[in-house]
Amino acid sequence: MAPYFLLPLVAALVCLACGVAIWLRDSDSTANRCAAALLAGATHWGVCEALWTLAPDAASAEWRVRASAPGWIAVGPLCLHLFLAQETRSWRGLRRALPFLYALAAGALLLVWTEPWLGVHWMFAGVEPVAWGFAYRVGPAYALWYFGTLLCVTIGITAPFWDAQRQLSPAETSQRRWLGTGIGVPLVLGSVTDGLLPIFGVDVPRLGVASFAVFGATVTWSTHRFGFSVLTPSSFAREILESLPEGVALATPDGRVRVANASLADLLGVPVGDVRERLLADLLPGVHLAADLAIGAQECELATVHGPVPVTLSTAPLRDKQGALLGLVLVVRDLRELAALRSQLLTSARLAAVGELAAGIAHEINNPLAYIGANLRALREQWSTLASAEKGSAVELFDEGASMLDDALEGVDRAAAIVRDVRAFSHVGSDALERFDPNLVLDRVLRVAAPHLRHRVRVVRRFGDVGAIEGARREIEQVFLNLVVNAAQAIEGAGELRVATQLNGREIEIRIADDGRGIAPENLERIFDPFFTTKPAGEGTGLGLSISHEIVRRHGGRIQVTSVPGRGTEFTLTLPAALP
Ligand code: ADP
Repeated sequence: MAPYFLLPLVAALVCLACGVAIWLRDSDSTANRCAAALLAGATHWGVCEALWTLAPDAASAEWRVRASAPGWIAVGPLCLHLFLAQETRSWRGLRRALPFLYALAAGALLLVWTEPWLGVHWMFAGVEPVAWGFAYRVGPAYALWYFGTLLCVTIGITAPFWDAQRQLSPAETSQRRWLGTGIGVPLVLGSVTDGLLPIFGVDVPRLGVASFAVFGATVTWSTHRFGFSVLTPSSFAREILESLPEGVALATPDGRVRVANASLADLLGVPVGDVRERLLADLLPGVHLAADLAIGAQECELATVHGPVPVTLSTAPLRDKQGALLGLVLVVRDLRELAALRSQLLTSARLAAVGELAAGIAHEINNPLAYIGANLRALREQWSTLASAEKGSAVELFDEGASMLDDALEGVDRAAAIVRDVRAFSHVGSDALERFDPNLVLDRVLRVAAPHLRHRVRVVRRFGDVGAIEGARREIEQVFLNLVVNAAQAIEGAGELRVATQLNGREIEIRIADDGRGIAPENLERIFDPFFTTKPAGEGTGLGLSISHEIVRRHGGRIQVTSVPGRGTEFTLTLPAALP
């Protein structure tokens, strides 16, 4: 017995293995289902072909040939369906034709199983013994079926090339070229030996099933080699996860890491395999995670081998299709760069604020120094006069001297106060949390900003009894100063600055309003953008409001603005009141 039967049998087994692999990879994808259906068909066809090769007589061989039909009869529509599933373009005509093509295939199958009709064997005329077993003889409808199938396959394979709009990625292009040769050549050979040559009555060993085995093996191997397959894509989930810069992990509901991506392992400083089974409580000390947690984000620290790293942690529950909880998805973003940038921005904003104030402060310190100097010089003169003075006038000189010393001391106190206020703004780094009265902070800010306001801006304070805020006092002070300096700069000539505080339930509202030039509507949305400024270079940095916004946001508050060009601007800060 010729060992020819082994060829379709082995090919059938390869088709079965590849079909199962493709199906398991992503059974939701149409392309994968089509490819798996083609390979399942080829498996059936290959087994039947091995059996008809081994058949004891022509009658049973013919019966087995007819039994193989479900395996190959729908190859045309299935190929077309597979290729259409890859396309982003609609190809509406072709898609609409698919059901008819499947119906035609079903009709052809019926024909194979019920012929002869009208005394004619339309698809198969019978079988004849050949050197390697049996070969089938085909009828007139077979040629029709063969060319129809060939047309479908050709349209399917060439469809992507007609679509000039579609930009293939370099990875897709290289894989398509590779797949084109790996699949195209055996398919052509198979279709010639199984379809074309039988029509002309030429008998050669058939390569149809083997060509499908090569198709399945090529697709499976391309998945293995490239990590994804153009023809039978999976959902790309793994590829996406591995290319993310953020650390991503799936944890069991009881808080153990089930899988993690490479970025998380990098961040932790350990190999990916070592992240598995680690306890979330060890990785994220101090973070309480409940598996039924709604989607949320928080800033916390990740315990890495290099020490704690500041991160933002986003969590979301993962559920199966039935809605049952599978675990917890964690996304961890390294905050080190952001924290450095934030501190840099805060520093530069502070420096800018100090810079803006420097001129006024120099002037301000100059005044007390001037009268300290004048008083001390006068006192020095009186000291010499005193040495030669008579008693009566000496008492007078002592009195005068005492008031000069008082003046000088007041000057020293003023200069010291200014220096103290300014020092508060040169502080760099994150501030400790404390409870403070915003009214007192506003008072101090108005004192510091006095050089900008004096003589031209009338300050109207309407402070309510608002209790305390809990937060970084210096940061909030910087926000107030930015708003007050902006308001002062917006007032050309004389004007009014109204500063009011008010308690609204659990929130403290702070309003800083001016009757200055206002903000043009087109700029209103942009004033919180970093580096947006309408002030001349050297005067504005455009950082004040963006930093203020960030500070207020971090304190759980918000900042709103209303403005009428030419009439004035009002900023409203809302901050949570500290618990009593
Ligand atoms: P800077 O003051 O350095 O320009 P800011 O971020 O503090 O940066 O402000 C951005 C812009 O917002 C200012 O350039 C100005 O055009 C506008 N602005 C802010 N406050 C006021 C205000 N009270 N009145 C008018 N315009 C304002």
